[in-house]
Amino acid sequence: MTQLATQWARIRGRLQGEVGDIEYRNWLRQMTLAGVDADEISILLPTRFLCDWVRSRYGDRLNALWQAENPAIRRVHIRVGGTAEPSVALAESLATTPEPPQMVPNRIEERMDQRSELSIDPRFTFDAFVVGKPNEFAYACARRVAEQLSSPGFNPLFLYGGVGLGKTHLMHAIAWELAGRCTTNGGRPVSVTYMSAEKFMYRFIAAIRSQSTMQFKEQLRSVDVLMIDDLQFLIGKDNTQEEFFHTFNALVDVGKQIVVSADKSPSDLSGLDDRLRTRLGYGMVADLHATTFELRISILEAKATRAGVAVPPKVMDFLAHKITTNVRELEGALNRLVAHANLFGRTVTLETTQEVLHDILKAHDRRVTIEEIQRKVAEHFSIRLTDMSSARRARAVARPRQVAMYLAKQLTQRSLPEIGRRFGNRDHTTVMHAVSRVGELMGRDAGFAEDVELLRRMLES
Ligand code: ADP
Ligand code: MG
Repeated sequence: MTQLATQWARIRGRLQGEVGDIEYRNWLRQMTLAGVDADEISILLPTRFLCDWVRSRYGDRLNALWQAENPAIRRVHIRVGGTAEPSVALAESLATTPEPPQMVPNRIEERMDQRSELSIDPRFTFDAFVVGKPNEFAYACARRVAEQLSSPGFNPLFLYGGVGLGKTHLMHAIAWELAGRCTTNGGRPVSVTYMSAEKFMYRFIAAIRSQSTMQFKEQLRSVDVLMIDDLQFLIGKDNTQEEFFHTFNALVDVGKQIVVSADKSPSDLSGLDDRLRTRLGYGMVADLHATTFELRISILEAKATRAGVAVPPKVMDFLAHKITTNVRELEGALNRLVAHANLFGRTVTLETTQEVLHDILKAHDRRVTIEEIQRKVAEHFSIRLTDMSSARRARAVARPRQVAMYLAKQLTQRSLPEIGRRFGNRDHTTVMHAVSRVGELMGRDAGFAEDVELLRRMLES
C-alpha cells in the first residue's frame, strides 16, 4: 500500500499540474484512494455528483496515469464513499450546521409569494438556459446548489464571466428553484435574498442614514440563501465591502448558502479585500466562458422555437457570426426579428434580417483590414507576409495570395482595383480572377473550403 500511496500522490500531483489549481480544488481534491482489488483501483468521492463528474471528465486521464505508474492496474473504479479532508470553510460550516435544508415540495401559494417578493425574472429558469461547452460547468454548479443547499464544496458558489453570458440568469434560476421547491427542516420555505451589489450598497447606506444598521444586519443574517450579483461593483467601496465581508462570514459560519457573481475570478478582482477574496475562493468557483459559434446557434434555435417563429438556418448562421460577444444582444436581435415578423406577417429571410437589424449589424461590423487578412493567411499557409505582394508565381505562394484576395473582397468594402493595389500593384482583373478561382475550388474541394471558411471565421471574430 505504501507503494500505491506514493504512486497515487504522484498521479494527483500530475493531475493538478495538468488541470490547474482551481479545477483541481473544485473537483479532484476530495478524491481518496480506497484500495486495490486484483487489477482494479478504487477511488472514492463524497457525492454521486462528484463521482459522475470526475468519471466523465477525468476518468480516462486517471486510467492512463495509473497505467503509466503501475501497469498492473487495468481499471480505475470511481465510487461514492469516504470523506476527504474538508476545506477550512467547510470544516467550519459543517461544525455548525448539522444538516442542510431538506427538499420538500412546497405549497403553491407560499411558492408564489416567495417568488414575487424576490423580484426575480420568471424567464430566467434552468429550463430556459441553453447549455454548451462554455457554460456547462457553471450550469452544473448552479443546479447543484439549487438542488442541495450548503452542500460540501459548493459554499460559497462564485460565478464569474463577461457581460451578457448568463450570470444573472443562473442566479435567478437558483432563486426561482429554491423559492419554489424547498422548505427548511422546520417546514418553512427557504428564505432567499437576491440583490445586486449596487443595491446592497444603497441599502446599507440608507440604513446608516436612518440609523438602522442593526436591523439591516439582522435582516440579512436571517436568510437561508444570500445572493449578491455583480460583486465587482463593491471594489473601491471599502465600508460596504467590509459590511459584506462580515455578513458573508456570519452566514457561512452557520452553514447558510452564499452565491456571488462577478465579472472576474476572485483572484483577478483587484481592489477586493484580501480576506474576502480568500473566503470567496473556499467554495466553488465557476466561470462562464465566452460563447462559441455552436452555443450561439443553440441559443438562437431555442429562443426562436420558444417564440414560435420559423427562422431559417441561414439567418441563424448569419446572426451567430455577426453578434459574437454578448448573448443579451444576440437575443435582442432575434427578438426584433420576431416582433417584425409578427407585426408585418412577413417570413424571416436573410434580406429582411439585414434590413431590420441594419443598425445593430453595423455596430457589430468588425472592420477587418487587408493587412490583417494578409497576415493571417500568410501565417496559416506558412508563407512570408512579403509574398502577398511579391511577383512570385509559384503555386505555394500564389494560391494563398488568391485566398487573401478572395477574403479581402468578402470581408472588406474595398474595390477590386484597391485590393489589387494592396497586393503588389496587381490589376483588378487579377483580383477578379482570384475571387472566382477560389470560389470554384471551394466548390470542388471540401477540405480547401473548410480552410477558407476557418480563416474567415478567425478574421471575423
Ligand atoms: P450577465 O449577468 O452575465 O451579464 P445575463 O444573465 O443577464 O448576463 O444574460 C443576458 C441575457 O442573455 C439574458 O436575457 C439571458 O437570459 C440570456 N442568456 C445568457 N446566456 C444564456 C444561455 N446559455 N441560454 C439562454 N439564454 C441566455
Ligand atoms: Mg448580470
